[in-house]
Amino acid sequence: MDVAHHLPPQSDYKVQHELGGARFIVSAEGCRITDGEGVTMLDGMAGLWCVNIGYGRKELAEAAYDQMLELPFYNTFFKTATPPPVRLAAKIAEKMAIGNPDLTHVFFNNSGSEANDTIFRLVRYYWDLKGESKRKIFISRKNAYHGSTVASASLGGMTFMHEQGGLPIPGVEHVDQPYQFGEGFDETPEAFATRVANTIEERILAVGPENVAAFIGEPVQGAGGVIIPPNTYWPQVEAICRKYGILLVCDEVICGFGRLGHWFGHQYFGIKPDLITMAKGMSSGYLPISAVGVSRHIVDLMVEKGGEFAHGFTYSGHPTCAAVALANIEILESEGLVGRTKTVTGPYFANALKRLSDHPLVGEVRSLGLIGAIEIVSRKGTNQRFGGAEGTAGPIVRDLCIEGGLMVRAIRDSIVMCPPLTISEAEIDELVSIIEKALNAADPLLRS
Ligand code: PLP
Repeated sequence: MDVAHHLPPQSDYKVQHELGGARFIVSAEGCRITDGEGVTMLDGMAGLWCVNIGYGRKELAEAAYDQMLELPFYNTFFKTATPPPVRLAAKIAEKMAIGNPDLTHVFFNNSGSEANDTIFRLVRYYWDLKGESKRKIFISRKNAYHGSTVASASLGGMTFMHEQGGLPIPGVEHVDQPYQFGEGFDETPEAFATRVANTIEERILAVGPENVAAFIGEPVQGAGGVIIPPNTYWPQVEAICRKYGILLVCDEVICGFGRLGHWFGHQYFGIKPDLITMAKGMSSGYLPISAVGVSRHIVDLMVEKGGEFAHGFTYSGHPTCAAVALANIEILESEGLVGRTKTVTGPYFANALKRLSDHPLVGEVRSLGLIGAIEIVSRKGTNQRFGGAEGTAGPIVRDLCIEGGLMVRAIRDSIVMCPPLTISEAEIDELVSIIEKALNAADPLLRS
């Protein structure tokens, strides 16, 4: 049935047919997923960077059940509201205020892509209301992933996505990503950060500051390869945005809800974005829901000027999804998972990964909170790749990890990890051991 009728997303359908269909994941508990053959694996990717509280949480199922019986759905278009999304907005505002008390309001959507589409429309609407309609350009970064809709894929910087269908749409400029291992190998972190941040200013000046609407970036790029910038990078980016009066947008779809040991990733870097987007960990993936966090000064302008913001979705603020997101946040709070990531599991993970630094195939290990990457190189002490080009070694090591009982993802030649925040220290050790074994098995294969 999978081959006969199902087209999975972001997939090569020739490969799907050759494989005779997908591997079915049929159940999960804690940090482990089980397939249709009864094989259980450690989930090193929290589903798809999202199952922050782990699997099997009855509280979320009960929240959905109760809300569906009470009121499965009602819209928020007709000057109507339902209690769960309004409660959720207040709860998210409380978490946003930790880093930036100006982030006071929330606009709901269903996915990360839609949240970034909302940014596209809201930011341009804001500048129209301000009487600066010329400000239409978004600056984003190469290799960024902001989603798969026309606008969010355009904001993203994945050229292979742009090649299909003639993206990006006009008005999006891409600058360098802060990928030091790949693109600043011989520089100090500070010099590299300054050089990369300056590409933003250069682009602003090239297109004319009066034409630039916003800069958007993930605090730590996830699908771009777990790119952790030097600590000086984000404050420099923020200063450039302020200098030219440009809105600063953080895509928190992966970094939000504890991933970096803070409620939102920008809080780690100490910056104050005007807008943020969130999804994934917001409901730990139990139901689809996303949001845009909006600063008071933007809301104030919309209130002052009046007129309808002609944007929104049938399921914006879906009561059942919102009830599940609230139950998810209650678990993050009651189990102290955000603080635990910062002070216990994040440092433990970083330390455990260090063990792999000496491996002959490993060029770098990096992590922040509970997201990390291992770079595979052909010559220790360099950033040279097997086969001369990126993307040869990564998939081989990934497949060996999966065979060994760990679900991870390869991005080019790095193995990326993003386990549930509930992962135990013993499970972190297990994750690292499986990767070590996979690297040992890959070594002779890659060198033959
Ligand atoms: N933004 C980031 C940083 C993401 O990682 C993703 C998905 O991986 C998205 C946006 C898009 O989210 P969705 O797949 O829910 O549309």
